[in-house]
Amino acid sequence: MSRVFNFSAGPAALPEKVLRQAADEMLDWHGAGCGVMEMSHRGQHFTGIIERAEADLRELLAVPDNYRVLFLQGGATQHFAQIPMNLLGGASADYVVTGGWSQKAFEMGSALAPHIGARVRLAATSAEDGFRDVPRAFDCDDAAAYLHLCTNETVHGVEFLDPAQLPDTPAPLVADMSSHILSRPMDVTRFGMIYAGAQKNIGPSGLVVVIVREDLLDRAWAGTPAVMSYRTMADNGSMLNTPATYSIYIAGLVFQWLLGEGGLAAIERRNIDKAQRLYAYIDASGFYRNEVEPAARSRMNVPFLLADTRLEGDFLAGAQAAGLAQLKGHKSVGGMRASIYNAMPVAGVDALIEYMREFARTRG
Ligand code: PMP
Repeated sequence: MSRVFNFSAGPAALPEKVLRQAADEMLDWHGAGCGVMEMSHRGQHFTGIIERAEADLRELLAVPDNYRVLFLQGGATQHFAQIPMNLLGGASADYVVTGGWSQKAFEMGSALAPHIGARVRLAATSAEDGFRDVPRAFDCDDAAAYLHLCTNETVHGVEFLDPAQLPDTPAPLVADMSSHILSRPMDVTRFGMIYAGAQKNIGPSGLVVVIVREDLLDRAWAGTPAVMSYRTMADNGSMLNTPATYSIYIAGLVFQWLLGEGGLAAIERRNIDKAQRLYAYIDASGFYRNEVEPAARSRMNVPFLLADTRLEGDFLAGAQAAGLAQLKGHKSVGGMRASIYNAMPVAGVDALIEYMREFARTRG
């Protein structure tokens, strides 16, 4: 077996320790006589797994008691629709657009709002500068039901790194944290709701983790189907229907791995180190470039361009041959992208820099 350094933006690399444990437990979970995929979601074994996963996530992020943790499905994209259904309540919501994902969330909110007797507004966008920074000014509606933003744009590599960059509004912030949740400590109380698709820093795709303040659960549009209602899911322990049991189990193993690594403060130190190494090399290279404002450069997703785009095919083929996989940028922006989530070791970043250096030396 040979595993590559996997720079995929998602589904992304998982910690090897987690994969090995899952492999060991695949056929017989802790003497249950069957694997986690094969057990009832309402049985005592799985109940223990989901309760432990929630408790560990609460510990990692210091989630206060007045927030509910939900393990839902549909990908983050489905929640672009569920958020207006559940939280808009016939009022108006603000959206901040800082890249492809928050743009999609805004489009979904705009399409849905008229059908549920509500409105959405654009409070800020960094589209004019090509999504190279977080907005420095916001036009917020103090009465908004919520303000939606994406705190790490996976495609454009733009991250709200400092809490001072967040909009200052009395409206609850609703944050898509899909691609940087658990990469550092986060003050949950700053947000009304946090949600994240699992397939970057949490586990397998399909699972969505929602952390929502309890008082926001009773504002849903009356037509919200029960299976899409955060209130109903909260009242049923995320089990109105069958949840994504195996994904929740893997997520639980990732949470235990993170606690074992020293929690989010320790992970943040490693993530800062990895990102600094890569950006410092890119900036000094004279061959590669990243165009995002330094104060908003994502620690998780590092897009970069080559001096000559005609070399991209050779760059990618050589990288693959060197065991550095999935470095192609998103189709909407082109170029390259190195996603360096929690599971990417420092050695993987060093190997990438070494390859980039050699490529620039021989082809530059
Ligand atoms: N938001 C962000 C920030 C993402 O990175 C992604 C997926 N890459 C999504 C939303 C959409 O997630 P999904 O495909 O699971 O619906």
